[in-house]
Amino acid sequence: MNDTSKALAAYKALLVQLDAYERHILKKCEGLIFCKDGCSSCCILKTVNKLEAAVVLETLKNIDAATKETLLKNKSKSRCPLLLDGSCTVYQNRPVICRTHGYPLTAQNKTVYCRKNFKTKSPDDFGPFLEIEKLDTALAAMAVQYQTELGDCADSDRVSLRRLLRRSMNG
Ligand code: SF4
Repeated sequence: MNDTSKALAAYKALLVQLDAYERHILKKCEGLIFCKDGCSSCCILKTVNKLEAAVVLETLKNIDAATKETLLKNKSKSRCPLLLDGSCTVYQNRPVICRTHGYPLTAQNKTVYCRKNFKTKSPDDFGPFLEIEKLDTALAAMAVQYQTELGDCADSDRVSLRRLLRRSMNG
């Protein structure tokens, strides 16, 4: 991983902001949100951008080989390959979408959220929420900047999580 990358520094700062958003939302909507490590309903991710891939790969390198071999044996086509017994193996460094999915967000001027949350009250009483389009735009710009810094002109800007898992086995 390129530790001098400005894009990587911006991405890590974004993760800190998202963690702060999570704390803010959980406090503001206390008792109404049931997203937590261990709920894997939305763990269907298959690919990440190359910036997120760099962070996930570093994290996977620090996971023991036996755990990774177990993950690789899971051939599920519908679930994220980094999910083990209902928990995320890269939780602390999980990608952006994994940090926002399920929480109330604004998308195209509407509030979106996991229907396991807000069973007794409407989330609209607790806004304003993070705007997903702005977040996606910022993340995409960081990913492009990262590829530019690396001189990466490859056609594909996405990396399969399963491929990252296999790559992490090689040190
Ligand atoms: S990376 Fe982790 S949190 Fe994200 S979908 Fe996969 S298992 Fe779930």
